[in-house]
Amino acid sequence: TERLKNGLAKTRSQLGNQLASLFGGGKIDEDVYEELETILLTSDVGVAATQALLEQIRQRVKRQSLSDTTQLKQALKDALLELLAPLEKPLVTTTHQPFVIMLAGVNGAGKTTSIGKLANLFQAQGKSVLIAAGDTFRAAAREQLQAWGDRNNVHVVAQESGDPAAVIFDAVNSAKARNIDIVLADTAGRLPTQLNLMEEIRKVQRVIGKALPGAPHEILLVLDANTGQNAISQVKAFDDALGVTGLVLSKLDGTAKGGVIAAIAQARPIPIRYIGVGESIADLRPFKAEEFVDALFS
Ligand code: GDP
Repeated sequence: TERLKNGLAKTRSQLGNQLASLFGGGKIDEDVYEELETILLTSDVGVAATQALLEQIRQRVKRQSLSDTTQLKQALKDALLELLAPLEKPLVTTTHQPFVIMLAGVNGAGKTTSIGKLANLFQAQGKSVLIAAGDTFRAAAREQLQAWGDRNNVHVVAQESGDPAAVIFDAVNSAKARNIDIVLADTAGRLPTQLNLMEEIRKVQRVIGKALPGAPHEILLVLDANTGQNAISQVKAFDDALGVTGLVLSKLDGTAKGGVIAAIAQARPIPIRYIGVGESIADLRPFKAEEFVDALFS
């Protein structure tokens, strides 16, 4: 929890310092709500989620007959927890073998790094892992995965060049033959506006299903928390194209825009499987709503 608190330091100081002065005591009036609205908006909570949270807080104030601003902190925590709790659905990989996870996202979102961290996490749980280097555009991505695989004794299926669908198809077949538990399939970064590349990743998805009916079992969209409100349009576009089943929110440590998590919850309540709060392996953590809200306000 200390690690999480440190990881969220920037968002905590942005949000926390402002709230501390607002919740310092005094009558709850319209000015207070207005200031709270501004604070939430500047923390990237977004317009829709801000309105929803304010409405929840007003109801709580009324229901519990709160009158002093010192009582608002708990009301905000409760409202935020209610918004985020439905997103806490840890990834269960025991339903299929191999369990195929395809990662998607824009360039630099943290896909390759997350694959390394996830592979470690699953290995620590005693599961066997195979990585498919499906980012055939960036040689560096393939090399990064290969080096990581060599260090950690994880087989990486890669090809010098060529079709990402073919690479991942091979990887899934290889995983079936070797009785592997988890396949982590990297894909090249792409913007939702690059329609040909969005079509390409849909093809990757279809081809995985040909290698193993029902797969991919998880489509993980990796989002860089630094992109703030931009993350919302990414979630919508990738979800519309692929049917995203889980999110990784990376780089929460480098940003004061952690409030975007509430905006995502409001816009598209897709489970947040993991959050990234630093560069080390232990910094990719399963998302826990209560722990997150506590860390934000402690
Ligand atoms: P990709 O293009 O989506 O594969 O992105 P990469 O995995 O190559 O990550 C881009 C950069 O972000 C790298 O320098 C990573 O070390 C960094 N990164 C990824 N996740 C995190 C995180 O949670 N925190 C921090 N501070 N950096 C991260």
